[in-house]
Amino acid sequence: MNVQRITILGATGSIGASTLDVLARHPERYAVHALTAHTSVALLAEQCARWRPARAIVGTASAAAELAALLGPMKLPTEVAYGEAALCEAASGPECDIVMAAIVGAAGLAPTLAAARAGKKILLANKEALVMSGQLFIDAVQASGAVLLPIDSEHNAVFQCLPHDFNRLRMPAGIAKILLTASGGPFLHRDVATLDTVTPDEAVAHPKWVMGRKISVDSATMMNKGLEVIEAHWLFGASARQIEVVIHPQSVIHSMVSYVDGSVLAQLGNPDMRTPIAHALAYPDRITSGVAPLDLTTIGALTFQPADTVRFPCLKLAYDALNTGNTAPAILNAANEVAVAAFLAGRLGFRMIDQLIDKVLNHVPAVAVEDVESLLEQDRIARAAAHSYIDD
Ligand code: NAD
Ligand code: MG
Repeated sequence: MNVQRITILGATGSIGASTLDVLARHPERYAVHALTAHTSVALLAEQCARWRPARAIVGTASAAAELAALLGPMKLPTEVAYGEAALCEAASGPECDIVMAAIVGAAGLAPTLAAARAGKKILLANKEALVMSGQLFIDAVQASGAVLLPIDSEHNAVFQCLPHDFNRLRMPAGIAKILLTASGGPFLHRDVATLDTVTPDEAVAHPKWVMGRKISVDSATMMNKGLEVIEAHWLFGASARQIEVVIHPQSVIHSMVSYVDGSVLAQLGNPDMRTPIAHALAYPDRITSGVAPLDLTTIGALTFQPADTVRFPCLKLAYDALNTGNTAPAILNAANEVAVAAFLAGRLGFRMIDQLIDKVLNHVPAVAVEDVESLLEQDRIARAAAHSYIDD
């Protein structure tokens, strides 16, 4: 088998680290082409020493100078670059076979779209990129023949439970529903009246998953599940009505597909992102991931409850944005990114996150998605509106 060369966008993050952990178990199958980080220069330098990539890319000229100074004495084959054009090139050039899209937020859109246009095998963790660009992204994948595999554990589970020849553009007739499971996050049982006083540290303390700070806050508001509903719409061609969210606090069933004959197929496993990463890397083969085998007798009980949109208004905002269509999901995403950053910086209360997003969605009209430029313009307008409400 030929060694597959991988670009990891967002190598220094939680998904990036889990990806490298899986790759380290299969040196005969995979080599690293490029590693990227925004500002975590010291960690990226360590990763370069270990993986000897052809390219290492950071966010700014000063970070690039810092990285080059760290790498200099190591005599590596690694060329240092910075900025969006370098990210796009590393994700689309001929030296790379697989792209792990694991940058957080809208910053990942350009390189992930470049990978889609170049027909790469794309391992998609960066759900915000797909939520923003929707049809544009899917059209790019269809036109180039790129292979799009979901890393989000829920979507990876759904992918595993669908017929292997499913058509992304239209759900097969035999499928009744996609059931996305959600842990409910750290505030599932907290008195709703006290939610306004929660701190960033409480919000990022997820009961089941260790993740980056932005997605951890999204899990606490359940905007993460809202973004995942939109993600599922684009990945599987399912309408909003065909996607249901079920709270499942144990996070053992990662999602399910319900068929019209009454069958429900589920994918189970310990909550560890190395499982979906290994699945997508090797697909359609199976490789080891380092994840411990699931011991259901230790877990004992699996429980389920409906999602509560009074406790989690962000979930309803996301369904509404999906139903509105056009650029509404991009506006929702932009407002959420600004709100979460402000919450993490101590500038916005937890309950203000959903209120801010709601205000922005009411203020910025959704328009048709023409091209990437018009999409980014909407993203800018929504961010400016969100900032203006925070500064009020
Ligand atoms: P993280 O914060 O741990 O890592 C983010 C990575 O992106 C880092 O390498 C960082 O350097 C890079 N980055 C941040 N801002 C950037 C910018 N402006 N330009 C370029 N690079 C930038 O995040 P994470 O938890 O690894 O999540 C990454 C993506 O995967 C997110 O979209 C998240 O929703 C998705 N995801 C994560 C998990 C998980 O378990 N962590 C699960 C499902 C989906
Ligand atoms: Mg998920």
